[in-house]
Amino acid sequence: MKGQTRTDAPLAGTAPTTAATANIAEVRARIAEAARRAGRAPEDVTLLAVSKYVPALLVSCAVDAGQLVFGESRVQEAKEKWVGLRLRQPDVNLHMIGPLQSNKVRDAVQIFDTIETLDRPRLCAALARHSALAGRLPELFVQVNTGLEPQKTGVLPDDADAFIETCRAKYGLMIAGLMCVPPVGGSPVPHFALLAEIAHRNGVRQLSMGMSADYELAIEHGATHVRVGTGIFGPRPAH
Ligand SMILES: *Cc1c(COP(=O)(O)O)cnc(C)c1O
Repeated sequence: MKGQTRTDAPLAGTAPTTAATANIAEVRARIAEAARRAGRAPEDVTLLAVSKYVPALLVSCAVDAGQLVFGESRVQEAKEKWVGLRLRQPDVNLHMIGPLQSNKVRDAVQIFDTIETLDRPRLCAALARHSALAGRLPELFVQVNTGLEPQKTGVLPDDADAFIETCRAKYGLMIAGLMCVPPVGGSPVPHFALLAEIAHRNGVRQLSMGMSADYELAIEHGATHVRVGTGIFGPRPAH
């Protein structure tokens, strides 16, 4: 590979740590561009670096590069990785973006600053209880299964209004945002639009949508949070 320039993969052969730092800068620039195209302020869009399955050493390089907001999909993994990383950088903001089991809520409330995957009353009850005990309530997003996919978690679009109302009225939980993971294949645009519409009619302000393949598109449709994993850290190890 020495002396060979590959324009299609400019970072091939570069150490993953260097690549991650460069990728963060590039993703940030593209976020700013997309925001400007949409007539929005770049700082209205938060980049979540999705660090699930990424080794702590590589994640720590992203932290050193100034990245402060991260997404993890499993409570146990987040706990193992982030206790140390938080000592290194206390200002880190950690989002839970994976399916949450109610028996993990106790830990999740301690570890995460935001939980994006609220989708059923049982979780609300557990969150209300454990946050009261811990004296700490993460910011909450409701996940919507916009593609009606049976294998995916998230409240169905038709049930979203009632669920948000239940969160607020019955459990006293403030809903800061909505989150979706559109089906693989096909355009994500109708899913982004649907999420934005549900948020708008329920007075919810934040929208977590858009991943490595489509975050610019998501920003054009109102995303306030984009979740980028492979676009920053490269392909994830098999798990
Ligand atoms: C893994 C994951 C991402 C990141 O996906 P990439 O395509 O690697 O950017 C975003 N959101 C959720 C919910 C995920 O599970």
